[in-house]
Amino acid sequence: MKKSYFEIHPWELVTHEFNDANNLVTESLTSIGNGYMGMRGNFEEGYSGTSLKGTYIAGVWFPDKTRVGWWKNGYPNYFGKVINAIDFISLKITISGTEIDLAKTPFEDYYQKLDMRNGVLTRSYIVNLSGKKTRITFKRFLSITTKELSVQQVEFEQLVGAAEIQVESRLDGNVKNQDSNYDETFWEPVTQKATATELFLSMRTKENPFNTERFTVSALADLNVSKETQPAVAVQNELLVNDKRSFVISENERVSLLKRVAIITSRDIADAEHETTAEHILARTSKDYAELEAEQTAAWAERWATSDIEIAGDDAAQQSIRFNLFELFSTYYGEDSRLNIGPKGFTGEKYGGATYWDTEAYAVPFYLGVAAPSVTKSLLYYRHNQLAQAKHNAAEQGLAGALYPMVTFNGIESHNEWEITFEEIHRNGAMAYAIYNYTNYTGDDSYLANEGLEVLVEISRFWADRVHYSKRNDKYMIHGVTGPNEYENNVNNNWYTNYLARWVLKYTKSAYEAYGAKSKADVPTAELLKWQDIIDKMYLPNDEELGIFVQHDTFLDKDIRPVSALAAEDLPLNQKWSWDRILRSPFIKQADVLQGIYFFGNEFSLDEKKKNFDFYEPLTVHESSLSPSIHAILAAEIGEYDKATEMYNRTARLDLDNYNNDTDDGLHITSMTGTWLAIVQGFAGMRTWDNTLSFAPFLPKNWNNYSFHINYRGRVLRVSVASSVKIELISGETLQIKLYDKNIELSNEITVAVK
Ligand code: BGC
Repeated sequence: MKKSYFEIHPWELVTHEFNDANNLVTESLTSIGNGYMGMRGNFEEGYSGTSLKGTYIAGVWFPDKTRVGWWKNGYPNYFGKVINAIDFISLKITISGTEIDLAKTPFEDYYQKLDMRNGVLTRSYIVNLSGKKTRITFKRFLSITTKELSVQQVEFEQLVGAAEIQVESRLDGNVKNQDSNYDETFWEPVTQKATATELFLSMRTKENPFNTERFTVSALADLNVSKETQPAVAVQNELLVNDKRSFVISENERVSLLKRVAIITSRDIADAEHETTAEHILARTSKDYAELEAEQTAAWAERWATSDIEIAGDDAAQQSIRFNLFELFSTYYGEDSRLNIGPKGFTGEKYGGATYWDTEAYAVPFYLGVAAPSVTKSLLYYRHNQLAQAKHNAAEQGLAGALYPMVTFNGIESHNEWEITFEEIHRNGAMAYAIYNYTNYTGDDSYLANEGLEVLVEISRFWADRVHYSKRNDKYMIHGVTGPNEYENNVNNNWYTNYLARWVLKYTKSAYEAYGAKSKADVPTAELLKWQDIIDKMYLPNDEELGIFVQHDTFLDKDIRPVSALAAEDLPLNQKWSWDRILRSPFIKQADVLQGIYFFGNEFSLDEKKKNFDFYEPLTVHESSLSPSIHAILAAEIGEYDKATEMYNRTARLDLDNYNNDTDDGLHITSMTGTWLAIVQGFAGMRTWDNTLSFAPFLPKNWNNYSFHINYRGRVLRVSVASSVKIELISGETLQIKLYDKNIELSNEITVAVK
């Protein structure tokens, strides 16, 4: 069922209503971030109703001891978690003795806006206390020009009568993760200071047997009130410092408070330097809210100038693509190669906030298109830097080579469900695919020739060990896996996994032949021969009669029926059915065979694509947010434009309309890349096979036109699609491209009719 939480607007999320029942979802949707830190749309004044508190600092995590019923050898010792850090936005407000809490205080004229032009979150309402009315307006943003800086303003406007107002600004380290395995807190106090000029709080992650790195996070707050006030400061406890300001506000008067906080971590700065570093940051940045906001708006405008997608004729679609780009850039803009993109970014605790295969499979193609190649290269280096840990992961399973983790912060596997940790090994292929994708897209083989080849060789060693030889069939097989479709476990010969493993071996072998002599990687001839044997004899289940690749050995023996045969109340399956029932059913969580057809689109005929799509899509429930985008792209390619548009809408407004009923615990950050992919690779049909950039656009019904920018091999192109397609070379040298299969030399711009 489609639900709407915010009004449709091309650049904003706006609502005039507040409803406790929606608060978890709207908190997720109003999350802001700047790559360095981020937070859910929690109310700064506190809220005793339904809420998930979340302030997160990138790269600050905790190894939470594994909790399982039945320990199995090979399980990771801990689940790595992004942790709730100091709540530095907290502002307790009391008006004439009443503490403001929207769960209890009467209020009217509610308004909330997330402005995607600059990442400023505004909220405003009038409190009516015995006829005395005060409008309170909060504004906040996390600076993208000074990453350590949080800026908040609260303004009081006295509409009727006079009032006595008290604002308590806090730095609050009494925070917990809801998903803590043993209901423990993860922090211990370090320093706390409260003086007339500043508040300072520093805390460190607790010692535990699995900590390879402990993190110290410190916050320094500076407060400015537009009216003369006397601060009353206090260290309330080891994890809470506060500053109280009281003043009387008369009718028609406005008083505002600016709270600027610098957040420093031991990831960048030695503990002893935290306070002075924060002081310097606060000293060199403006104390004027309007000036700070103008700087923020200008910086976001630069980002939008090269990445915005414009859609005319469908404001809901326009809002959603901008929302998704906004949240992605708020999570990761490639500034720190130690970081990665967690599936929930800074918007919730689920998935641990760590690195998944989502990055290589979904985020890499997006960042290749919208950002400089160095951003994607950082993501590749991230994995190369963790090669030793990936070898450790493989060894833990008793296998050779490197097994990249399903979930990690530091390279060590930290997912502890056996069917995923041990079995969902297709992720290892995505690591290799990203190396290929980067090299093929950018034409830069420097990573492949050096670090990339080292990674590929170790991944190949893993596959060569993980396959087994079936004498009976004279084939290599891979048993006991979970494919991308997590609604089946422990299957044999998942087509996608087998195909990918074979491709990795082929790709590694050819890369080794090209670059091996100069690389650190050393592969003996006997090993290369073994790889070739596996390549030649890899078993790939297929069904000639149906003309499809079979998801795994026994898939076709299931009770095959389409999702349309289910009753509406059965969906979503993951919330309505027992796990056992799901596992036995033919219903597919996300693209599986189709994921492979998408990755290797140049290796399949249009007819093969059509047959597989028409067979698998009707069985797919798209209960992973990663699913609809791949289907949108393939549907567009085979000419099923309505299906492509339906799938686009599903990926684009997945969170805005809470499609899967799970936006309450955070946004689906990594799958937001899918919205961009669905437009650029789906509707516009962009491909980069064989060193050639090509397009084959169509215009979805209801849209008047759409346009986007693309970075490709040192050029910036702008593609606009209406009844005709216009491709402009904005910067860079002349480029040979293909448009609807026709070769074109693009030196300025070209316009042709849409086919
Ligand atoms: C999907 C995985 C994905 C994970 C994190 C799961 O629901 O099935 O493919 O890696 O979410 O986004």
